[in-house]
Amino acid sequence: MTRFDTFVIVDWSGGNQGPAKPRADAIWACVARGAEVLPPVYLRHRQAAEAWLTDTIAAERAAGRRVLAGFDFPFGYPAGFAAAVTGSAEPFELWDWFEARVDDSPTANNRFALAGEINRRFGGQGPFWGNASRTDVEGLPRTKAAYQNPFPERRAAEDQARGAFPLWQLAGAGAVGSQAIMGLPVLNRLRRRFAPEVAVWPFEPLDAAVALVEVWPSLMVGAAPEGWIKDQWQVHEVARIMAALPEARLAEMLAVSAPEEGWIFGLGFEAELRGTAPALRNDCFALPPGVHWTPVDEALADLRARLSPVTATEVCGVASASGRVLATPVTAARAHPPLPNTAVDGYGFAGGKPAGPHTLPLVSAVAAAGAAPDTVVPEGHAIRILTGAALPPGVDTVVLQEDVRVADGALHLTGPIKPGANTRAAGEDVTEGQTLAEAGRRLTPADLGLLSATGVADVTVRRPLRVAVLSTGDELVDAGQSAASGQIYDANRPMLLAQVAALGHHTLDMGRVPDNRAALRATLDRAAAEADVILTSGGASAGDEDHVSALLKDSGSMALWRVAIKPGRPLALGIWQGAPVFGLPGNPVAALVCTLVFAAPALSVLAGGGWITPQGHDLPAAFEKRKKAGRREFLRARVRDGRVEVFASEGSGRISGLSWADGLVELPDGALHVQPGDPVRYIPWSGFMGG
Ligand code: AMP
Ligand code: MG
Repeated sequence: MTRFDTFVIVDWSGGNQGPAKPRADAIWACVARGAEVLPPVYLRHRQAAEAWLTDTIAAERAAGRRVLAGFDFPFGYPAGFAAAVTGSAEPFELWDWFEARVDDSPTANNRFALAGEINRRFGGQGPFWGNASRTDVEGLPRTKAAYQNPFPERRAAEDQARGAFPLWQLAGAGAVGSQAIMGLPVLNRLRRRFAPEVAVWPFEPLDAAVALVEVWPSLMVGAAPEGWIKDQWQVHEVARIMAALPEARLAEMLAVSAPEEGWIFGLGFEAELRGTAPALRNDCFALPPGVHWTPVDEALADLRARLSPVTATEVCGVASASGRVLATPVTAARAHPPLPNTAVDGYGFAGGKPAGPHTLPLVSAVAAAGAAPDTVVPEGHAIRILTGAALPPGVDTVVLQEDVRVADGALHLTGPIKPGANTRAAGEDVTEGQTLAEAGRRLTPADLGLLSATGVADVTVRRPLRVAVLSTGDELVDAGQSAASGQIYDANRPMLLAQVAALGHHTLDMGRVPDNRAALRATLDRAAAEADVILTSGGASAGDEDHVSALLKDSGSMALWRVAIKPGRPLALGIWQGAPVFGLPGNPVAALVCTLVFAAPALSVLAGGGWITPQGHDLPAAFEKRKKAGRREFLRARVRDGRVEVFASEGSGRISGLSWADGLVELPDGALHVQPGDPVRYIPWSGFMGG
């Protein structure tokens, strides 16, 4: 039985107590129940952590909940070690052994002395190494220089876990050896305290109500976002990801046999675990109470703060990654150029040449692009060299073939020539390991060139955001259908589908829905099942036929955002079965403006691409306009002869003005009298698209 209600994830520490102010290398722990992830807890030392764990597990059990507790240190050692130390390959005998010998307090512990004692039994040069204390310990090498290990260097699990440290290393960044020595006694006490309800994975069958499981956050968690401490983020994410796994998947991942060494949870399932997307909270659109018109900037700041990426990640070949959003930063696999080379076709030699004539005997070889630079060019000689060829040993300067004469097996040229002329230095463009693109970047064709040039073959990207678009209203028919006199053609759906696609998202056409609550509910259900986000237009106000707002209100997640914007009616925001819903105004002009101003940046965040700040510029107005204070106005606009024209009518039903325009003019919230020639902010359509 592998159903767990509560996941407690702990990032352990092998050292002395951390400072009172939370920081990375003390202990962090996090609890998740279902979709609810509690704020991570900072624990200064192991004694505090042990007490917290005891209380937390006891409280969960008292509430009848089954608990999986994950710890980020190895539960077993490489094969042979346990038997050599205790006489038994049984891991719990080793746990008992450590518990009996480890002394621990917030300010001191004996882990290095104990490791030295173990090493001395095996000749005093291993298996442990590394010492972070000032005192030398007999038999414990500080470095790997004089190190000899009678046991395997890694467990079978670590052979599979790229980047995992061997647990013999007790000190240095990333080492995990101290954490195991200082952690196993704590686990052993928890085992006894909660017996017979505890099972330790993968040594015992998981049929108890509390499971202790070895986890390794780096397997499933990327870099921490701004404002999070790495360990704090890791426990939060591991708890969230494990709690979100369907029971059957979790069971499959836990089906492992490693009776002596133990195992790392999730090995072989990295991509799936990394791809587990977070759910949005149902109240993420809640607004503070009070009826007022929210200024545009406040509404945008609110949206930005409450949304986070919802798309899972996947690995994709660089060649097919154009337009995809990076989920993790990309670094150069190799320098560019990898070797010093020539920028021109010509002749290479060593050093610059002063003014005047020079004659250099030519070696017989030719240095061509792609060949290994193996011909040594003796001092005072030159070599024929072709564009892109690596500079052979003895060459650091190249002269253009057009500037020389070759006769009698020698090169004749006239100086001066600067040393290094016409060459490119290794790494002058990109150094190995340099960050080429940050997470959140939507890859351009040029990015594919850069990544490929530096040897990057695969990237981790977000799956495309799936956006469902539907129109509401009894009056609507599709173009091409016959329309009764009271009916109008659905303009919003084709427009919004195209706009969303242009923003780089995947679109799903959910069709038209009449003003009928049951029909709308059914369509929203379908949209939430198939898409990550839903855009509706129409029916978003507070009238009798405004069923979008009514349904979202019923679902309990509705917020009617009364934003001080023209054109625009209230924006209905809510969560329908886990999918955020943007209830856009029905009026096509308002629908497009609200899509560009609010939905575009929000969709970008949901897609993992980060917030979009519209890019505009100030240009002189070719119009006059008075506006009142209290709301922001967007006018359909275009630029002619360096001046901004606006559409003759501000009527929000005039779709022709949208098509006439090349962008929008944004007028600030305050009162304003624009005179011809005054600077106004013009944002072309492309300025709303990010990138
Ligand atoms: P509503 O928000 O549903 O009250 O609609 C406001 C205005 O926009 C009404 O005049 C609707 O007929 C019009 N409208 C709503 N949806 C669309 C659509 N998809 N295409 C064109 N006009 C629409
Ligand atoms: Mg309507």
